[in-house]
Amino acid sequence: MSYDSNNIFAKILRGEIPAHRVYEDEHTIAFMDVMPQADGHTLVIPKTPSRNILDADPETLARLIAVVQKIAVAAKKAFEADGVTVIQFNEPAAGQTVYHLHFHVIPRVEGLPLKPHSGTMEDQGVLAANAQKLRDAL
Ligand code: 5GP
Repeated sequence: MSYDSNNIFAKILRGEIPAHRVYEDEHTIAFMDVMPQADGHTLVIPKTPSRNILDADPETLARLIAVVQKIAVAAKKAFEADGVTVIQFNEPAAGQTVYHLHFHVIPRVEGLPLKPHSGTMEDQGVLAANAQKLRDAL
């Protein structure tokens, strides 16, 4: 399986489609998931193309996980969460639907189950407000 440079996250990286970005550095961006499984659900992706963890280079992964931690800490604070779920899927059999490496960072409230993966589109105003909360915490 090879990398398809027309996947949705590649288009977000190139600025061809909009996203509620919360973080950017030389190697990484983070933005709100449009179908959040909980309030504050954020995706963290490298600028370097790879489909997933199976073809990523270790240096990219190392840099990426450091940002995942940064976003997780900020998301816990921003959404007054009790915990944070970090998920990463590889290939369709594992549940991957967008083929550019990404980590899901999902703030969790005690007793509140996750909504379905790729379930319901969130209101853009809610996503914008949640993105601002996260930026403030960062
Ligand atoms: P995967 O199954 O590949 O791990 O997850 C892909 C994620 O991307 C899903 O959680 C889905 O809600 C999210 N997603 C799909 N299309 C878009 C989009 O156009 N913009 C954003 N921000 N997220 C998307």
